Amino acid sequence: MTVSTRTNGLSHAVMDTDYPLNSIDWLTRLIAFDTVSRHSNLALIEDVQRYCEQLGLTVDLTFNDAKDKANLFVTVAAGGNANNSANNNNNTNSSADIINHGLVLSGHTDVVPVDGQEWTSEPFTATIRGDKLYGRGACDMKGFIACALTLLPKAVKLSNAGQLRRPLHLALSFDEEVGCLGAPLILADLKARGIIPDYCIVGEPTNMTMVVAHKGIAVYRCRVHGKSAHSSLTATGVNAISYASRLIGYVDSLAEELSHRDDNDALFDVPYSTLSVGTIQGGTATNIVPNLCEFTFDYRNLPHMTQDDILAPIQAKVAELSAQMQARAADTGIELMQEESVPAMTDDESSELQALIAALTGDSKRHKVAYATEGGQFTNSGIPTIICGPGSIEQAHKADEYVELIEIEHCDSFLQRLLESCTTDK
Ligand SMILES: [Zn+2]
Repeated sequence: MTVSTRTNGLSHAVMDTDYPLNSIDWLTRLIAFDTVSRHSNLALIEDVQRYCEQLGLTVDLTFNDAKDKANLFVTVAAGGNANNSANNNNNTNSSADIINHGLVLSGHTDVVPVDGQEWTSEPFTATIRGDKLYGRGACDMKGFIACALTLLPKAVKLSNAGQLRRPLHLALSFDEEVGCLGAPLILADLKARGIIPDYCIVGEPTNMTMVVAHKGIAVYRCRVHGKSAHSSLTATGVNAISYASRLIGYVDSLAEELSHRDDNDALFDVPYSTLSVGTIQGGTATNIVPNLCEFTFDYRNLPHMTQDDILAPIQAKVAELSAQMQARAADTGIELMQEESVPAMTDDESSELQALIAALTGDSKRHKVAYATEGGQFTNSGIPTIICGPGSIEQAHKADEYVELIEIEHCDSFLQRLLESCTTDK
């Protein structure tokens, strides 16, 4: 169950309320919150909530089931009222209009763990050495969030002056790094509130270049149930590892076929959909016919391929092999389970947004990438989305993660121009 609240409901201790005035100080503040995905992100969310409330904005929170993690969504309304007053129950059509449409800046608040990594400086203390700022989340992706938070007072000022032509939204999610679990709650909440943003920019690190599409990811677990026997009596057993290996052989042959399709997309670094077996366990001793074998594989589909395109032939093979096994012994067979699914991000509807970004950055080059983001969930909800943010994906998830200070500067000026594009006097 997801609970949405628009009150000042959180009770965690927070940092001081003298909020930073620039992006580097904001990034330093954000890095100090240990928001590794397995931990709560509420302290960070409450800090941002206070900041928004100081600016006169009302945030919208959506929680996970355990209520120890939250997404935050906040809107700077178009027109002369920065507060998103349409959240009030007595909202009118005109007040609804000032928060509908507009542009979403989106970022995830969680970061990957630092366990087992050798860091030069403390990972949750931002440290500037030379022209770089080091810390967990520096590029993935608290840098973008820092820039967006720094922009917020400027947007509020424009809104209060009646100059914001369309609303500006900020969406901060939880649990992106563990399967993009938070963003769907934001999207469901927006849908329930009748808010349909025109565009979204996800600020994952792209060195401020424009990523217009990414692959989807589906992870499957396959459990092969055979029948044990002494290895000298093979005819009385059903070898789970042997059947698993047949299925793996089939998955590999499908992967080979995918690489030769004529509808592959050369803009991707790996221009075809991929299938890869990642883990396998099975068997207890060489002299026992194994009764269990489990393996996992992932499928990374190009945006025009669906996850079912690959699932259907594998399911057919599973049925064929299960029938063969059951002909030899009842209670044998193969289970196939989906463990994770993140949709691909398409560039089908985003040409207007691409043109805007190209005009603002002076760089019209379009990139497509193999990693997945929340962008696929936004495009799946009908919101044209691109990815553009400071820092390099090369530094993400590593020890001594950093963002170059110049990248933060570039992001600041990009967002400033983006905000100007939302004003009446463009
Ligand atoms: Zn990320």
